Amino acid sequence: MTSLLEVQGVTKRFGGLTANSEITFDANAGEIVGIIGPNGAGKSTLFDLITGFERADAGEVRLDGRRITGVRPDRICALGVGRTFQKLKPFADMTVAENVMVGALARTHRMREARDRALEALAFVDLLERRDRFARELSTGQRKRLELARALATGPRLILMDEVTGGVDQRTIPGLIELVLSLKARGLAVVLIEHNMAVMMRIADRILALHAGRRIAFGPPAEVRQDALVVDAYLGSADHAA
Ligand code: ADP
Ligand code: MG
Repeated sequence: MTSLLEVQGVTKRFGGLTANSEITFDANAGEIVGIIGPNGAGKSTLFDLITGFERADAGEVRLDGRRITGVRPDRICALGVGRTFQKLKPFADMTVAENVMVGALARTHRMREARDRALEALAFVDLLERRDRFARELSTGQRKRLELARALATGPRLILMDEVTGGVDQRTIPGLIELVLSLKARGLAVVLIEHNMAVMMRIADRILALHAGRRIAFGPPAEVRQDALVVDAYLGSADHAA
């Protein structure tokens, strides 16, 4: 059985810095794979490699058994890989609906269909009633939902979410988690970068732990939580920071 996403030994260097060093993991349809690791561990870079925004120096990425390493980002998106960004970048002077249509237009060139897709995605993230507001009028939590709707409108089978609950009001976190779980229920493969360990332990089926560009653990949450390297590198330092 091949997984929907297979990442095999990917390495990415920026000058003398190795941001990802021979990372291997996979994600199945209907599964949530969480990625943890301190800042600078290489989490976002891994997303850049999967989505084609950056080119791996070694290793390969396969979607449904098909190699997508070196394929252009727009092609990878059209093959069914959606992504939300850590640093939100909505088009501030476009409406909420228009922002999501940008995503939908990755899939269709018919405006009507794009609008329908956009509205469907907005309904899914519970932002439909704000469709005619400007993106800049939204709160951070709402902008996260907008980002998600834009990614969903591209029609993904795999969605990569970078720090979904980062920087949002505590009260909006349960709603965001529900959304992630409903994506899984829909049969999407979800790969999630998340700093909130309580959230991660609860929703992830498997967790990939990175440290300084290396994979230090990959497995079920209960296993990863007890991994000595993880406790040392991440949980330990997070405790100190708290
Ligand atoms: P994380 O998302 O885990 O915080 P990143 O993947 O953003 O980490 O970054 C991993 C390392 O790679 C960091 O040291 C970061 O400074 C470096 N890095 C990321 N992107 C670039 C880039 N485009 N050019 C140079 N260095 C980069
Ligand atoms: Mg990051």
